[in-house]
This record gives sequence, structure tokens and C-alpha cells, in this order.
Amino acid sequence: MSPRTFATVGLSLIAVTLVTAAVLMCYRPRGGRPDLEVPIVSRRDRAQSSPPTRPPARDVYSPPVRVVVTPQPARSVKLSIDGPYEVRPIGSSRVLARGSRLDAVEVVATSSGFQWGKTSLAVARVEIHPERSPSIWVDDHQYRGSLRLFRKTDGRLNAVNVVPLEEYVASVVDGEMPAAFPEEARKTQAILARTYALFRTAEAAGHPEFDVYSTTRSQKYLGFQYRTDDGRRLAGESASSRKATSDTAGIVCTADGRVFSTYYCAACGGATIDGDRVFSDAAPVIRGVTCRHCDASDFYRWTTRSTKANASESLRNYFKSKGERFDKLSSIARLAGADEGPSHPFEVKDGRVTRMVAAVDLRRMMPPSTLPSPFFDVRSEGDALVFSGRGHGHGVGVCQWGARGLALKGADCYQILRHYYPGVGFVAVAPPATKSP
Ligand SMILES: [Zn+2]
Repeated sequence: MSPRTFATVGLSLIAVTLVTAAVLMCYRPRGGRPDLEVPIVSRRDRAQSSPPTRPPARDVYSPPVRVVVTPQPARSVKLSIDGPYEVRPIGSSRVLARGSRLDAVEVVATSSGFQWGKTSLAVARVEIHPERSPSIWVDDHQYRGSLRLFRKTDGRLNAVNVVPLEEYVASVVDGEMPAAFPEEARKTQAILARTYALFRTAEAAGHPEFDVYSTTRSQKYLGFQYRTDDGRRLAGESASSRKATSDTAGIVCTADGRVFSTYYCAACGGATIDGDRVFSDAAPVIRGVTCRHCDASDFYRWTTRSTKANASESLRNYFKSKGERFDKLSSIARLAGADEGPSHPFEVKDGRVTRMVAAVDLRRMMPPSTLPSPFFDVRSEGDALVFSGRGHGHGVGVCQWGARGLALKGADCYQILRHYYPGVGFVAVAPPATKSP
């Protein structure tokens, strides 16, 4: 978020501007108007290290989050609606179509708009507003809020769920963290998810379609409920995830007074690393810290195997994509010295040439289960390579299994967040003040 973003005012951007403005306001529990003293860029956090008071339910600001639910533009989506609905152009009150319910139909993009069942619309961007929420199903997920459809020029379409922030957070808590984790860990997850969504929403202000993905590319969002391949219905949110959300309603993390991209990982395996070693936009509070709290994770320490033949194939393809040759792997060794982590060098030989490859690239080129994190060593054992490592994920920011461990030792969500983000602040976002007449 930048001052320029904050200054942006325009009818088309009004919703996003309100989000940005709201983030810049601190809730005052003793009444009075919220003001802008918190995240103005030139000032540092003031007295933000203690947790803010949660605003009363009526004052919780829950702006819309635009979640793209088609992982990439699709030829069609399956749509059904469990109740009355209206279809309108986005941002318009003009009704293009309406119905009392919609049984499963295939929605396709046409040369001028969309078609499903007997409905044909000559508009490239429409929004389906259900009377009740949740009632819209898209490809086996039911979502709260409304649904937008965007026709792409190549005949595909994007489906975007527009959902209030707090309802989005309640689903992400269950999507990203096991239900069995203790309450304070789940509250930590709610604050992380809310902050991340507000940061991305402000950052995506100019994006015509969406703010976040429904996958781990952003945060895992399953919606209200979903059907599995074998036809079972599973909950996408729960009483416990809604409680973790409402117990922290409106509260976000700040670094230098601003919301930031709250990176987190499943398990660090003993220590996290500085955020800027992996993400160019990492806030300075995302620093490497020790963590012995994730030792109950199966990934605290791990060992995996790969055949040398498979590793050879992966390396050959990797070097080929860089315009370099690599044949059959004859040896691989982790070099000593450099910092452990994503850029740590490994030496690979094919009997003819010796090349270097970084841990992060080795991880990326192998099947995902082979190297769960970039922190590992390797040894040869006959025709196999044996990898031994620690942690699950990129190792940046809050360690989710560590949050669980800390919560079991009595830490609350603010202590947990301060452990992984040293110097972090907290504010409760409030609705933008209404102007006096
Ligand atoms: Zn950890």
C-alpha cells in the first residue's frame, strides 16, 4: 500500500479506496471518530504493540473481497443456485435475468456474453446476486456472497466470488489450519488471513477482476461447503473457525503502521528465515527466529528418497530449460558454508561437467512430496538419493505448527504473532467515518 494508493479516489475505485481508508483507521473503543493516526506512511507505529480492543460487532468493517474461484480461465463452470437470484451487469441495478432457483447448468462464454440453460446474456461482465447467502454453487463449492462472471477474449471465463472479508476469513481459517489446533493458534490464523486479504485487496486496487486466488497461491478458501469427488458434502467453515474470526474481528497486524503480506508456513523445523530471502515484498518484521515449538509436526524432521534416474531426468530438464546440457547424474553434494535455505548451493556432476543448483531449484524440479522444504541434505545410497531435511513450506513468517505449540504452552495469539514477527503492531480496522452533514 502506498500514499499514492491512499490518495486514489475515483468512482470506479471507490470500494477499494474505502478498504484502504479503513485500514488506515484505528478503532477507538471509548467512542469518538476513528482517525488516521495509525498507518500514515511517514510516521512510525505508536503504542501499537499491545492488542487493540475488538470493535463491537456492528462496527466491524468487512469490505468485499474478490476471490477468483476458477484456478485459471475456464471453458465453462457448473452453476446452481439454491434460491431466488437476480443477474445484473457489474455495478448496475439493471436486472438482466432473474429466477426462483437454478438447477445445475453449464455456463459458457459466447461471442457476446454468457449462456446457461435458456438464458443468454450479451454482457461481458455480470454479477449474480442471490437473495439468500450462501446459495450459489460453482463447480462443487458453495459460496457466501455473490458471484461475478468475466468473459475472456479467448472464449473462456473467470468466476469470482465477492464475499465480505470476515466471512472470507472464517473459511480460510479452516482451509489453512487443522480444526484440531488450539484456539489461540486458530485466532492467529484469522489475524494472518485478514491482514493478508486487506493487503492484497489494497494492492489489487487496479485489477479489473479479482484480489486473491482461492488456492494456496493466495490462501486456501473452500467457501461455505463443498462436495468431494465421491459425493460427500464437507464444511468449508465451522463454528470454531467462525469463533476464531469473531474473537479477533477487525484486528490486523501492522509493520510501520501498515498492513503487510503476512507470510506463513506449515512448519519451520527449528527456525524461520528472514522474509526478504524469499519474497521481495517481505516486511522488515518478517525476520528469522528460532522455533522449537513445531516439533510435533511430522515434518519437523523428514527423510525422503528419489531414484537417481528420476533425479537425473529432473536435472536434465532443468538445465535444458537454461540452455545447458546435463546427462546422467553421477554425484550430488551439499556445499558447506553458505546460509542454509533456499539459495544454498548443491554441486551436481554427470561425469563430464560439474554444475551448481540452489536448494530452492532442486525443490521445485522434483515431485512436490520429495522435498517438502528448501532445508535439506542429501546422500547417495546405491541407485537412490536419500534426502533428510526439516520443515514444511518456505520457512518464512509464522510457523503454523509452532503457533500450535506456543498456544499449547499458554501463549495468546498476540504473543504468537510477536514471536514470529518481532516488532509487529496491531490495529482494529474500522469502517470509514461518515462525513458530518
Ligand atoms: Zn516452527
